[in-house]
Amino acid sequence: MAHPVDNSNSSFATRAIHHGYDPQDEHGALTPPLHLTSTFSFATAEQGGEMFQGERPGYIYSRISNPTLDLLERRIANLEGGEAALANSSGMGSITSVLWTFLESGDEVIVDKTLYGCTFAFMQHGLSKFGITITHVDMTNPENLIKTMNAHTKIVYFETPANPNMRLVDIAAISLIAKAGGARVVVDNTYATPLLTRPLELGADLVVHSATKYLGGHGDLVAGLVVGNMEDLIRIRMEGMKDMTGSIMAPFNAMLITRGLKTLELRMQRHCENAMTVARQLETHQSVEKVYFPGLESFEQHDLAKRQMADFGGMIAFEVAGGMQGGIDTMNRLNMIQRAVSLGDAETLIQHPASMTHSTYTPEERAEHGISEGLIRLSIGLENVDDILEDLMPALPTKTSKVAA
Ligand SMILES: *Cc1c(COP(=O)(O)O)cnc(C)c1O
Repeated sequence: MAHPVDNSNSSFATRAIHHGYDPQDEHGALTPPLHLTSTFSFATAEQGGEMFQGERPGYIYSRISNPTLDLLERRIANLEGGEAALANSSGMGSITSVLWTFLESGDEVIVDKTLYGCTFAFMQHGLSKFGITITHVDMTNPENLIKTMNAHTKIVYFETPANPNMRLVDIAAISLIAKAGGARVVVDNTYATPLLTRPLELGADLVVHSATKYLGGHGDLVAGLVVGNMEDLIRIRMEGMKDMTGSIMAPFNAMLITRGLKTLELRMQRHCENAMTVARQLETHQSVEKVYFPGLESFEQHDLAKRQMADFGGMIAFEVAGGMQGGIDTMNRLNMIQRAVSLGDAETLIQHPASMTHSTYTPEERAEHGISEGLIRLSIGLENVDDILEDLMPALPTKTSKVAA
């Protein structure tokens, strides 16, 4: 296995480009090779047996590990400030691999009120079938967690900013409480990326990502990553992933994400800058009733955002006059901005959580979990911001329709 140049003191962008790879280990190839192989040949039968016993390092089969995945795992572990990582076939593959590893029937998972739709469905309809209790708590106030933690609580799970309504959770405060009660803290860091927030440095145990989003960054793959300490990551790989979900990343996708990481800092800077401009414009528009963006002074948790995030990200949620129909009409008037789920791509994307990503919730559940029917989610892309505004602003309802509503 290749041994990396020591660049632990380098800045984020430099590590995102170099960490964990020395071209001299690969015939001088500047770009790391793609190992498209399902299996690995053993020099002798005895050596193969030793690898299976864990007595000899080396590759066995690509559902366990593969050199192309190894490089991505080393790199994301470094960027998140963790010891080790695991590359999965989707964000859901990462989330399920982690939870199947650490839970058994009788255990409880405490989750924040707002979760990505499929994460919510996995917990609410999946895990609950196996005798695992899912308790939803409003983690924007850490006091609520103190009251709920009990001897059965094994995992405390949340997103920050949360998909789709941008609620923030104080990672340090929640981690302190959860760990005092003996639970592992798992943070979905998809929205922030390690450039803006590093949950492990704030006390979390594990970070999960939908690498489909900002890390890949080009809307051309589906993938997930987990980062944490070595001991946990070995268990997640050998229990939750290898035997329970089988959710291993394809080497080709690992290569594309390793490439995507090289421009993560550059891309995020542009996403953040564009989103700040669009959020400010939306806020001043007469028919926009509410804008949820951590960078706005009017955002309820703006102080926490300033403390916990290096910048405010590229995601915006907003509500327009006319409720759900007002939002749908707005989406249908767009030309350049694409009506699509997913996020973190070069293209600006817009979607309606209640009928799309969060339709896994019942209307009652959405109301209870703070996802309003009229909420619109915008993933600000890398286009020129003037072109984004030129498409978006005229599509908003006019003042007349606000009066009519
Ligand atoms: C998209 C997403 C997921 C799921 O990831 P996939 O790669 O689609 O499986 C999980 N969490 C968040 C916050 C997401 O946005």
